[in-house]
Amino acid sequence: MKRTELHVVVGAGVAGCLAAITRSRAGYAVVVLEKERARFAGTYPVCTQTSNIVSENHSGAEYPFDPQSARDCLDGRIVNDRFFPELIYSGKTYSRIIASQSMMTDGHDIVGQCRANMDVIRSHYAQRCQEDPANAVFGEPSAICREIPDVPGVLDVAAGFLTPQRGMNPVLVSTVLDWELRECGVDFREGSTVTTIDRRADGRYLVEYTSADGSAESLIADQVSLCAATAAFGMARKLNPALNFPRLFMALRGILYVDLPDGTDKNFTCLKLEDSYGGMLSPLNEHCAMIYHPPAAHIMNVVMNPETCEFPVEYRQYLTAGHPEMEERAERTLTRLRDFYPELARSEILGTYLKVAINTVSDSRIRRNIGVFGVQPGATMTVLPKWTMCVVNARTELRLALEHSVVNGNIEAGEVAELLAASIRSCWETSPAWADSVEACTDQARKHAINMRVPEVLALRFGNRADSITAGGSGSPDGNRDISE
Ligand SMILES: Cc1cc2nc3c(=O)[nH]c(=O)nc-3n(C[C@H](O)[C@H](O)[C@H](O)COP(=O)(O)OP(=O)(O)OC[C@H]3O[C@@H](n4cnc5c(N)ncnc54)[C@H](O)[C@@H]3O)c2cc1C
Repeated sequence: MKRTELHVVVGAGVAGCLAAITRSRAGYAVVVLEKERARFAGTYPVCTQTSNIVSENHSGAEYPFDPQSARDCLDGRIVNDRFFPELIYSGKTYSRIIASQSMMTDGHDIVGQCRANMDVIRSHYAQRCQEDPANAVFGEPSAICREIPDVPGVLDVAAGFLTPQRGMNPVLVSTVLDWELRECGVDFREGSTVTTIDRRADGRYLVEYTSADGSAESLIADQVSLCAATAAFGMARKLNPALNFPRLFMALRGILYVDLPDGTDKNFTCLKLEDSYGGMLSPLNEHCAMIYHPPAAHIMNVVMNPETCEFPVEYRQYLTAGHPEMEERAERTLTRLRDFYPELARSEILGTYLKVAINTVSDSRIRRNIGVFGVQPGATMTVLPKWTMCVVNARTELRLALEHSVVNGNIEAGEVAELLAASIRSCWETSPAWADSVEACTDQARKHAINMRVPEVLALRFGNRADSITAGGSGSPDGNRDISE
């Protein structure tokens, strides 16, 4: 690079972390501005917001109602497999997609729909493998999905499907991203809330933010990457009032972590389709699971104001003070899912989380990639409808950044392809010394669980003993070990 450009990334969810890592690998100097602060000294507050309740690395199997959503997710899953280390799966195998018997009895051919979707996944994967043999990360296309005769330990099953969809553990994702950000030499500024971004006459960006000590700070960046989830729309619109967004839905959702006092023999996610017949049991390890049941989880769905791009006022209030129906809805979820999953009989709720999902339609059965917006030359916006699409979108936004550097004369056009490929290489190629010790790795993950305000028991992988979670550490440095948001 002829002149090292300074790039500012706003937000350190999975989208921002990936933007920072890939831009830094490409040779840019990168500053991340993240409004949250770490609750555990020596860690970065990464994935503390929506990215802290993610449990599925989708393959499209969950979207039998929309082939394009299935294809988008499979593309994400393929590149994620090459980017993330095995650690993030925490001993989980594949996910079982389950068609409910009650849904069939009620006249919906969910089994037929799932079978048709398996064909969509197989043929899309075959096409991707043909385009590039390196995409063959799940083996032979004909063998990547199959119907399984039964799903032991789950009630009300008409058919089960094994697919490349794979559950992962958000705490271990943060552990990996924190290490990789350090490896890349990213300048991570926590407690930094971006207030305004303006494009200067020279084409660079003035980024103003409030720092951790409350003082007003600013940076002049060659390029900016807006990864601040719902807040990114307003930032982008201010930079370019002519920008056209699709109709955007902000869905307020409730999701729970529960304990598993009787353990579980399922080191995989069970996803039952659909709505009142459905729901998800995603064990993170033998001691804890994430659960979700659509009718109780789907609280509200508001269309974003296309002019102001403002976040709905009532959402702000609910995310701060809680929703009045939150507890009742959480109990309803647990009670309903006990009908499907016997291991929940004695479970208790460890934490209830309110989150906002972003989509281009009101129907959650469709989840197409929103893509990356070129806001202005040198400014991109990445808002993920699904975690699964994080690497696909990071590659797109890096390409836009590199192309802008070509225009600026800082890199040669011929360098773009090579820089792109090198920057999307796997994480964990040089792994930390503690990666080889399960105990040390669990201790790192536990610190992130505290940062992310999720139960510390998430730090365990399948096969870890539950008492190892308390053996090595003293808990949160400020003594605040609450597990709810
Ligand atoms: C209930 C639920 C379950 C889900 N489950 C899955 C799943 O299993 N699989 C899947 O693929 N997807 C899932 N998703 C979607 C997934 O959670 C999101 O697509 C993804 O986590 C979004 O990541 P992000 O980085 O865009 O946003 P976030 O993780 O929200 O990160 C945005 C960051 O920006 C920071 N920020 C905001 N404003 C500012 C500012 N002004 N200055 C500085 N920083 C700022 C925030 O603090 C935050 O850290 C789920 C969503 C919901 C709601």
